[in-house]
Amino acid sequence: MSKFWSPFVKDLVPYVPGEQPKLTKLVKLNTNENPYGPSPKAIAAMQAELNDDLRLYPDPNGDRLKQAVAAHYGVPASQVFVGNGSDEVLAHAFHGLFQHGKPLLFPDISYSFYPVYCGLYGIQAEPIALDEQFQIRIEDYARPNGGIIFPNPNAPTGCLLALEAVERLLQANPDSVVLVDEAYIDFGGESAISLVSRYPNLLVTQTLSKSRSLAGLRVGLAVGHEDLIEALERIKNSFNSYPLDRIAIAGAAAAFEDRAYFEQTCAAVIDSREQVVAGLQALGFEVLPSAANFIFARHPGRDAAGIAAALREQGVIVRHFKQARIAQFLRISIGSPEQNQALLDALAAL
Ligand code: PMP
Repeated sequence: MSKFWSPFVKDLVPYVPGEQPKLTKLVKLNTNENPYGPSPKAIAAMQAELNDDLRLYPDPNGDRLKQAVAAHYGVPASQVFVGNGSDEVLAHAFHGLFQHGKPLLFPDISYSFYPVYCGLYGIQAEPIALDEQFQIRIEDYARPNGGIIFPNPNAPTGCLLALEAVERLLQANPDSVVLVDEAYIDFGGESAISLVSRYPNLLVTQTLSKSRSLAGLRVGLAVGHEDLIEALERIKNSFNSYPLDRIAIAGAAAAFEDRAYFEQTCAAVIDSREQVVAGLQALGFEVLPSAANFIFARHPGRDAAGIAAALREQGVIVRHFKQARIAQFLRISIGSPEQNQALLDALAAL
């Protein structure tokens, strides 16, 4: 705190990112990265870009990437927005699309960045409890609102809301923006992008950090009606007209174009997830149904914070949240087969 801070900054409660440890030997299962690395074609495209002309500014619109995303999903490129990680895309959506003076509805257990953006942009937050099974109950969202946002699959629970339920939510809220944050959709869900042409109030965000294994590159995107995309472009061009650098545009576009690698690595993560779930259940854990590249699990007889600390001593890091309702859970990212085995061995040894 300093006398130079504005009152606004004094009151900001920023997001606390998951730990990025400096030690490299750890079995790192705490921030949902992909164990398989990006497509070799994406690496080659980035290397080629390095040999090109970094002296020049990038394309401010990232058109090459927008076209690759548009081709992947069969939508016009004019319905695609790209930004520096989906965190930045979400920030622009909070800034430009959620109404003031009415509450923004989101699940009380969901991505903890949402309340932070509410604070940053002066939006009234209204968290809504999940049901007993940690599922989103869409009937609870039939109330006046200035927008709705939820991750699908949800984070950190991993639970999926069926596309048919997403559509009912859209039908019930035609006058406000419904933002579906699909950071983890490629690990077992069906994207709501297929609904964009019918619902002008739907915005879907995705990231290249998870299923395309480019967390270090910081690329995210949104797909929605042209009017919503136009709002995001206005915000972006009032903030940073070059959110993506030349390397990011080239690498992310090539990653989207390599559908075979994407499908193969997602399938491998899903397969590993089923094995980790079986292994954890054999050790007495209860695991919520996951459609993500992580699982959310608790052990009836053991303290989750204690397990996380004990795992850490054995070089395995997982995520524990202090929020009361989920304090008995651990969120565990799906790693490589060797990492997953190291996790199960460490747990068995506890
Ligand atoms: N949404 C959700 C639900 C997430 O878990 C994350 C990852 N922390 C993000 C968005 C942001 O991902 P990124 O900024 O890496 O695209």
